Amino acid sequence: MNFYVMTLFPEMVLQGVNTSITGRGIKAGAISVEAFHIRDYTLDKHGKTEDAPYGGGVGLVMQAQPIWDCYQAVLKRIEENHCASEQTPGDQSDAPEDNDGSSQEQMAVCGRAPGKPRVLYMSPQGRVFDQQFAEELAKEEDLVMLCGHYEGVDERVLELMDAEEVSIGDYVLTGGELPAMVMIDCISRLVPGVLGKIESAEVETFTDHLIEYPQYSRPEVFMDKRVPEVLLSGHHANVDKWRREQSIERTLRKRPDLLETAVLTLSKKELKFLDELKLRVAMEEQEEDADEEEELIPGAPDGI
Ligand code: SAM
Repeated sequence: MNFYVMTLFPEMVLQGVNTSITGRGIKAGAISVEAFHIRDYTLDKHGKTEDAPYGGGVGLVMQAQPIWDCYQAVLKRIEENHCASEQTPGDQSDAPEDNDGSSQEQMAVCGRAPGKPRVLYMSPQGRVFDQQFAEELAKEEDLVMLCGHYEGVDERVLELMDAEEVSIGDYVLTGGELPAMVMIDCISRLVPGVLGKIESAEVETFTDHLIEYPQYSRPEVFMDKRVPEVLLSGHHANVDKWRREQSIERTLRKRPDLLETAVLTLSKKELKFLDELKLRVAMEEQEEDADEEEELIPGAPDGI
């Protein structure tokens, strides 16, 4: 899977993604991340890429021309990458080289335009990125990401690129680089070959719309706190059942909004467990409310 990031701060994106697990995924060839410096494509002799907004107002707007030309370069690069991956080693040795390193034979074979890639504009106004969206995007071969800055981007270039706006949450950041890095990180985990074992991404928070069960590691006792006995039992079926129930309980307590969809994935036994749990949680809440009321009425007799 290939990410093409259009940005005014390529070094920021590349430093981030070349580290840790995404960095390993890049080295292994499971993903690639190329950053395109929008400033390299401006026709302004002073290297300007932004200007004041029409109609007045504060701040600067990223201009259409440098972004559009940068996008054309990205499309060309995508095509080159596709050609390179289609080419067999035999083709390479026989074909004459162009001055840019690509062969004439390769250009003749791969001169067609690839399908339009999905273009994502990082924007607080967009569809909010979540695990389901990540799974959808992980199926793409190429993703083009545009990072905005200042007051944002000239609307016309977004329309021309048919860009989808994507937000990483309801808050405003200074630029789209961090959102792009967040998305690359999350999507890459779903690409085979990025994580050590793909199973590690299979049972996780948001899988089946449930929150993940608690995790423990050595030692068995830490500051008088013991690891739950069932995890030491070696009884895999019991461990699985305990983990599943913990996931259901955590979801009910921490993210009850997820349960509406999660119930569709629960077995009959799990639904019964959830009903009992709801009763237990409701009773706990009643007890807590009663305790709070007691604290609010000083000197009140017990039970009020
Ligand atoms: N004036 C814009 C508005 O009110 O919608 C906000 C511009 S913001 C200061 C600058 C850039 O940061 C945006 O163009 C976008 O690329 C990025 N950005 C800020 N918050 C974001 C978020 N929550 N998700 C994705 N991108 C964001």
